[in-house]
Amino acid sequence: VISVSARPIDTARGRRGAVAVFHDITERKRVETELRGFAGVVAHDLKAPLTLVSAYAELATEALDELAGSVAGDALDRARRGTAKVLHGAGRMQRLINELLDYTAARDATLRLERVSLRALVDDVVITRTDAPEHEPHSRPDVFVGPLPDVHADPVLLRQVIDNLIGNAIKYTPPGQAARIDVTARTGEDGGVRVRIADRGIGIPDGEHAAVFDSFHRASNGTAHPGTGLGLAICRRIVERHGGHIDASPNPGGGTIFSFTLPGAAGAGSEQVTRVRKT
Ligand code: ADP
Repeated sequence: VISVSARPIDTARGRRGAVAVFHDITERKRVETELRGFAGVVAHDLKAPLTLVSAYAELATEALDELAGSVAGDALDRARRGTAKVLHGAGRMQRLINELLDYTAARDATLRLERVSLRALVDDVVITRTDAPEHEPHSRPDVFVGPLPDVHADPVLLRQVIDNLIGNAIKYTPPGQAARIDVTARTGEDGGVRVRIADRGIGIPDGEHAAVFDSFHRASNGTAHPGTGLGLAICRRIVERHGGHIDASPNPGGGTIFSFTLPGAAGAGSEQVTRVRKT
């Protein structure tokens, strides 16, 4: 496998020329493929023992809660704090493992293309996300969903893209801030669909918008929030496998706009504008 990079040069006496550099990246590709396979196997093999850890930590928590009804004491309090930490850590590991598995699946899973109602998919993600227990009723974001056409896509993989982008829009909008998120789409002349998810959250610093799609990359202002830096790399893979393109840009009103393209499906879907808000 050869990678080629070239740039024009101006030589002395005004003559124009070009320099091309050829790199043999066969070895790098082989190592990347091996690492991806390794990550997939490790994630898969960690899943079962981690499920056991979580299940027993939950059992221990229940038993300690029962004991706390009749016995009091420092030792019991320490044990309860300990099991809470085990459960919290196991939850984080489970999320990381699931992301690593999604990451390998995003490249390797067979694409099953069909007509998908973007509208139904977005509504479902919004309701699941805004119903999440970590959101107090007063800090739930408002998500406005515009008219969305049908697309030609793999519904499982497309759900991951929408879920990651809406999940990020919520995660990177501090509670209490004007937490409005807009999901809109436009069908181009070529029949392709551009989906746009705009938030008014913390934004991405100038010059970092392209890098957030690299695996494990986190923007310099976002590290206070838990995360792995894998979600957007997964989104990019999935969108590119559909022949589309994804990018991020600053929202002029503050926040970030993520935008991606997909092949459209003939005959557009719902035209109505609704507001999905859980209170
Ligand atoms: P994670 O959120 O797990 O860190 P992602 O790959 O989804 O990983 O995102 C990469 C980085 O891009 C995040 O760490 C964050 O810094 C930044 N980012 C993603 N979405 C947003 C957003 N809507 N607003 C601000 N920053 C974002």
